[in-house]
Amino acid sequence: MHSIYKEVLRFRDERNWKQYHEEKDLALSISLEANELLENFQWRSSEEAVAESKQNIKEEMADVLIYLIQMADKMDMDLEKEVLAKLAKNREKYPVK
Ligand SMILES: [Mg+2]
Repeated sequence: MHSIYKEVLRFRDERNWKQYHEEKDLALSISLEANELLENFQWRSSEEAVAESKQNIKEEMADVLIYLIQMADKMDMDLEKEVLAKLAKNREKYPVK
């Protein structure tokens, strides 16, 4: 398991938060954090948003990944394996010309 996975799960377990982590709430949280990421871009060009809010953009990206890791753990899923499987599927769907 990658070290960030271990750190995310350790953070959760030290606080005994796993008991609250239903799949529905984790999926909802991924979406909410993705929207917090989007908020950085509202009414701005990409260039303006990155120039003015790069730190917050990074933190919201991290929040999305933190919830993804927790949801993968809840579902006994190997996230890295699933990403590789999906990339293989995408390669078939979108072949290099
Ligand atoms: Mg956030």
